[in-house]
Amino acid sequence: MRVRARVEGTVQGVGFRPYVHGLARELGLAGFVLNDAHGVLVEVEGEAVGRFLERLPAEAPPLAQVERVRAEAIAATGEPGFAIRESPAGGRPATAIAPDTATCDDCLRELFDPADRRFRYPFVNCTNCGPRFTIVRGIPYDRPLTTMAAFTMCAACRAEYDDPSDRRFHAQPNACPQCGPHARLVPDAPGDPIAAAARALAGGAIVAVKGIGGFHLACRAADERAVATLRARKHREDRPFALLVRDAAAARELADVDERALLARERPIVLGRRRPDAPVAEAVAPRSRDLGVMAPYSPLHHLLAADTGFPLVLTSGNVSDEPIAYRDDDALARLAGIADLCLLHDRAIHTRMDDSVVRGRRLIRRSRGYVPAALRLPGSAPPLLACGAELKSTFALARGDRAWVSHHIGDLANYETLRSFTEGIAHLERLLELEPELVVHDLHPEYLSTKYALERDGVETRGVQHHHAHFAAVLAEHRVERAVGAIYDGTGYGPDGTVWGGEILRGGLPECERIGHLRPVRMPGGEAAIREPWRMACAWLAEAGVSAPLPGVDAARWADVAALARSGLASPLTTSAGRLCDAIAALCGLRHSVTYEGQAAIELEAAADPRETRAYPLDAELDARELVLAVAADVARGVPVATVSARFHNALADATARALLAAGERVAVLSGGVFQNELLLTRTTAALEAARVRVLTPRALPANDGGISFGQAAVAAAR
Ligand code: ZN
Ligand code: ZN
Ligand code: FE
Repeated sequence: MRVRARVEGTVQGVGFRPYVHGLARELGLAGFVLNDAHGVLVEVEGEAVGRFLERLPAEAPPLAQVERVRAEAIAATGEPGFAIRESPAGGRPATAIAPDTATCDDCLRELFDPADRRFRYPFVNCTNCGPRFTIVRGIPYDRPLTTMAAFTMCAACRAEYDDPSDRRFHAQPNACPQCGPHARLVPDAPGDPIAAAARALAGGAIVAVKGIGGFHLACRAADERAVATLRARKHREDRPFALLVRDAAAARELADVDERALLARERPIVLGRRRPDAPVAEAVAPRSRDLGVMAPYSPLHHLLAADTGFPLVLTSGNVSDEPIAYRDDDALARLAGIADLCLLHDRAIHTRMDDSVVRGRRLIRRSRGYVPAALRLPGSAPPLLACGAELKSTFALARGDRAWVSHHIGDLANYETLRSFTEGIAHLERLLELEPELVVHDLHPEYLSTKYALERDGVETRGVQHHHAHFAAVLAEHRVERAVGAIYDGTGYGPDGTVWGGEILRGGLPECERIGHLRPVRMPGGEAAIREPWRMACAWLAEAGVSAPLPGVDAARWADVAALARSGLASPLTTSAGRLCDAIAALCGLRHSVTYEGQAAIELEAAADPRETRAYPLDAELDARELVLAVAADVARGVPVATVSARFHNALADATARALLAAGERVAVLSGGVFQNELLLTRTTAALEAARVRVLTPRALPANDGGISFGQAAVAAAR
């Protein structure tokens, strides 16, 4: 019996052919395997063909993502033996490039084995691990079109690369100390550069470290002075720094993190509740209950973690809100004022890529390690580009039933970021050989992603409402056709020209209707109300008929802002749940101004007493005036912030659940950035599940605007 099988998915450059070769030989089958335009083509002949087809997807190598195997019986040829054949020339090189992947156990053993020829070599990798997407310049995925082109393999590396039974068969970034990239320290120091960097870190230095997707800034996490200096030089006031630890045991000493997530091959930053005695400086994560911890994801980071032996701050290599540096010249220039030393290497990074962030199994930022793995779309999309939103922006390309969501690009209002958005689109279009026939965008006319979409020549364009995109992303991911949803976030453009963000939606992918929302209030001074949450407190109190200023706010300013709210001048109406959280945080006296969006709400959640079960009044109409008055009264009576915060969260969760249940649907979606609030999410989910409603939340993508591009693609495909 002979079978021809087509394997589709991420099956090239991941060790798939040697795997097939080994499996066929083990089962005593004849035939061949080759890469072609559609993926991998296999023909096998012999007794065990059935078992071969069973095991083929089940035992695939770690980086392979088998999406489909199509097998057909064909006439036997009687050929002897099994071979890996050359790819046929021409045709579309088709298949997906794998994400950058953490060092595998085999490579790790070599890295720390004094007898191995790659002992302490910071660029050891194989077909099961190492850099991928960040080093690719073009297709086909072959060494000359990666940033490894500059390095010619030595005889020993070449032999591995050519040997189908070797772990490094066709491993494009294969290298060794004789022929591959090298690390160096600027300014230069004698001896091993990583050991020297480790010594400097122990002595309190700040070191810029070039990684897989860009530069980080590192210092000793327990060193109060070094961490405070880093914060000051980086102009980063409050946002927590991530930490690098050697292994899971070291992570356990810092925070209660999900170890499976910590050691997953994507190697994200994992958020977890900090241990009270965590040995880190206060300035690492001021006023935060959580710490973000990461295990080493490249051999260079493994060496650095081993050589230092203590937790390191490892934060993005940039100043303030700029994108992370990834080119050597740029990094040396931009980070010169921040870092005392720079640990560089001569393998170029082609695509900048931030670290991914997860909490448990929920994604907060989907980037290095995940991108460019394809996500499934229901239905079939024409070749399209979805441009996403503005903050935490991503874009997505889609074709047929697959969508490729880009890495986290960040705030497009920054010129550098906007450039990486447009260049990123061009790059991924080339890699996927996808020419969009349709470009999808947000309805916000001022988003730079919308402007970009409308300026693309010769394509059809279509707008998708922001919260519908949030809703659709979850429906598409879970393959559900119809649901009711609460989409709570900071800002999204509503078709009525007001700022939406506390929306109850019902419907499906092609269309949905707005069946409820938070009571609208003014955002006094527009954007200023995002930076200064006390303005939202003022607007809400004015809405509820109270004019007395909050303690700590100048009475004249309060009166001005209250007048703005009354007149509506430069003060758009908003239904934003994020802004309501801001108002409550300000009423509690937690924060009158913020340095990043969502900060007040995050601190409000952190303050909540989880044992408090009572709730403020809030009906299913989501009119929060009575709630705001109750909060103000409790604060005035001296009720602890922990209690006030908990009663507020409980009220919002209960009212949201009631509003959703009133729609009479069996399935409810909870998404939008505000649902990254664990307290709100948990309580709302519990209330819905108690009423036997199935609750869906985003899993493969973040709940924040990083998921918008996928939702836009899903809506466009469904329409
Ligand atoms: Zn490896
Ligand atoms: Zn070599
Ligand atoms: Fe949003």
